[in-house]
Amino acid sequence: MSGVILPGALAGGQPATLGVMGGGQLGRMFVHAAQAMGYFTAVLDPDPNSPAGLAAHFHIRTDYLDPHGLEQLIQRSAAITTEFENVPAPALQGLAAQRWVAPGAEAVAVAQDRAREKAHFVRCGVPVAPYALIETPEQLAAVEGGLLPGILKTARMGYDGKGQLRVATRAELAAAWGELNQVPCVLEKMLPLAAECSVIVARGADGAMVNFPAQRNLHRGGILAVTEVYEGNLPDALAQRAVAATRAIAEGLNYVGVLCVEFFVLEDGSLVVNEMAPRPHNSGHYTIDACDCSQFDLQVRTLAGLPLAQPRQHSPAIMLNLLGDLWFDAQGQPITPAWREVLALPGVHLHLYGKLGARPGRKMGHLSITGASVDVVKVTALRVADLLGLEAF
Ligand code: ATP
Ligand code: MG
Repeated sequence: MSGVILPGALAGGQPATLGVMGGGQLGRMFVHAAQAMGYFTAVLDPDPNSPAGLAAHFHIRTDYLDPHGLEQLIQRSAAITTEFENVPAPALQGLAAQRWVAPGAEAVAVAQDRAREKAHFVRCGVPVAPYALIETPEQLAAVEGGLLPGILKTARMGYDGKGQLRVATRAELAAAWGELNQVPCVLEKMLPLAAECSVIVARGADGAMVNFPAQRNLHRGGILAVTEVYEGNLPDALAQRAVAATRAIAEGLNYVGVLCVEFFVLEDGSLVVNEMAPRPHNSGHYTIDACDCSQFDLQVRTLAGLPLAQPRQHSPAIMLNLLGDLWFDAQGQPITPAWREVLALPGVHLHLYGKLGARPGRKMGHLSITGASVDVVKVTALRVADLLGLEAF
């Protein structure tokens, strides 16, 4: 069971250390939030240049299943969280035997597996896209034609549209499953999307839960490109349904930590749940600059057993993702994005993750744009997009 891990220096010693499995940008922003409150931080990630490892007090550079690395993380940390959902379940179970770990291994295991995840959504009474599980050639042959055209997704280890293939016919489906090495997959019917949205909640060990407003998300090529959060970004009733569904999904898992649920809004106005992430989410990065308590602050609070105050968004916000493509011109020559021009605009907050080496499609950072009104934020965000050569939205 969790205890309370108070921030700041302990009498006669150093502050408590909060640990995190994984060294990506989400871990880095967790580390920043934890440090702002006076905690020490420890990161386990094999990459010597991992974004979170570079920012943490302690960087344990081992594989996620290395017993010595895990032991070091236990010795360092008063409590441990994760920053990516593919952390091996046995590693989390081993940590949980000796330290408070949130979210728990069981909730992470459900989120790691699209089939288990969908079963959980259905149990919670939240509709999912029509789908079929494909683990055997017999299941492949038995797929109903109504699921085509569809998207074949690996049941495990997918992110940013990786491990997904769009298929229109049975022949394409069979070829796609072969291309994915016949690993367990789900075939989802391709739905007519009017929009996409997500909701982030934080739930404490005592069951207290708070949420951020529903975020409207635009994806390009399977990767989040733009998040817009302000009054009127989505119809009110729809936003309320998405928040209620996310709360039910967290409650049903007895979840502790920050959880994001992604939804599809269909052309007929109905809401379908897509997937969940057992951690802070890219669509919640705006909370750092536009809310009085960010998703990472809440991750720290859930881990340390501190009270969860309902966050308040104090400014309308638009978040633009910065992918590695921005570091190359049309001829593929390396360039530096126009930061000086972008930062000259009021209300622009630049976050770069300290990644060495830009690659197309790699998440290098994001910009949050805030302002006094929705109109100001929209105008500034479009100006920023233009300066950086990002597609308008
Ligand atoms: P993430 O980076 O969010 O973990 P992922 O790789 O797990 O992404 P999904 O969220 O499953 O991928 O899909 C990525 C995007 O592809 C969705 O946000 C949506 O735009 C589109 N998409 C996925 N499934 C469907 C569907 N059944 N019908 C229509 N569009 C879909
Ligand atoms: Mg997704």
